[in-house]
Amino acid sequence: MADDDFANAEVYSFETRAIRAGQPHDPSSGAVVTPISMATTFAQLEVGQHRGFEYGRTGNPTRAALEAQMASLEGAAHGLAFASGMSATDAVLRQLRPGDHLVLGDDAYGGTFRLISKVLAPMGIEWSAADLTDPDALAAAWQPNTKMVWVETPTNPLLNVVDIAASAEVAHGHGGLLVVDNTFATPYLQQPLALGADVVVHSTTKYAGGHSDVVGGFVATNGDQQAADLAFLQNGVGAVPSPFDAYLTSRGLKTLAVRMDRQCANAKAVVELLQGHTAVDRVLYPGLSEHPGHVVAVKQMSDFGAMVSFTVAAGQAAAMRLAAATTVFTLAESLGAVESLIEHPGAMTHLSAAGSPLEVPDNLIRLSVGIEGVDDIVTDLERALDSL
Ligand SMILES: *Cc1c(COP(=O)(O)O)cnc(C)c1O
Repeated sequence: MADDDFANAEVYSFETRAIRAGQPHDPSSGAVVTPISMATTFAQLEVGQHRGFEYGRTGNPTRAALEAQMASLEGAAHGLAFASGMSATDAVLRQLRPGDHLVLGDDAYGGTFRLISKVLAPMGIEWSAADLTDPDALAAAWQPNTKMVWVETPTNPLLNVVDIAASAEVAHGHGGLLVVDNTFATPYLQQPLALGADVVVHSTTKYAGGHSDVVGGFVATNGDQQAADLAFLQNGVGAVPSPFDAYLTSRGLKTLAVRMDRQCANAKAVVELLQGHTAVDRVLYPGLSEHPGHVVAVKQMSDFGAMVSFTVAAGQAAAMRLAAATTVFTLAESLGAVESLIEHPGAMTHLSAAGSPLEVPDNLIRLSVGIEGVDDIVTDLERALDSL
């Protein structure tokens, strides 16, 4: 049978779209996997008349397949793949002009903070940080020249929850754009465009790729002009993924739902251990009823994700020791893949935020819970906590 419109969310489930959207059987061979198309240039039929592809930076069939697949998962009309989460972030932020102001959450990915404060601010982009878990704080932070608000939810690494619909209301009420970095939740658990966001950004290096073997970024939007502007930047700036990177990301996406189900379940077992352990001070996980963002998380997410943070009762030195004391959990930056990772954000991923409003507690540990056997994960962490 001919390829159906597998991108249609009204007909097909998330899981089916993850496998089939944008992934037509290769017409020349019937191959069920989209080929890695390495060509950098494409034959034209007549001058200016081509089959949809001209030059490899501008567009590539493997990349186009990934873009259709991931856009479908975000419920977006348009999707654009980038070489990294940072280059996707950069493309969206490049729509600001000198003198424009941006509101950033006071807990955010360190690299996003670095790009804004160290690269864009010296070029004339103004910014301020606000507690975006409170929509009134966003309204209070709004200035006459504010054009955009940048939301992460759940946030990295404190796992705060920001109400996307309430943020959209404030941003749109002031004529601004709401951008949501959906890296932690993934479209499987949370679809920001349906909640009112204008643009969704991803580091596909994390859950989307899911195997710690490809760096990538993605932008999704329903705005036709927005998409055209971003496509101009994608081509004009040139931070595009290689065909092989696009293939790996696409391959990872196909199993996102099953990986995420298992990772969420394993994270809950980890949270249970942490809550009952005397070496642990505070557990930060939106699935806990006492978490300040729990009610909003229930409203806008279908599960609570597999990132778990906590503070170590004995302080910074003990937290550092703990991070080096596990074996199933690997001490490493990054997150979202099949293997469990542990890190100390203050000295690792969020070092660039030291001394800023985005600084994190020095006794904080962040876990990315993987899909290993749940008993192995829990036993490893328990042994390490007992050793403190
Ligand atoms: C990792 C990450 C990024 C940056 O993505 P890269 O692929 O590393 O460039 C942006 N936002 C969040 C929330 C991240 O975790």
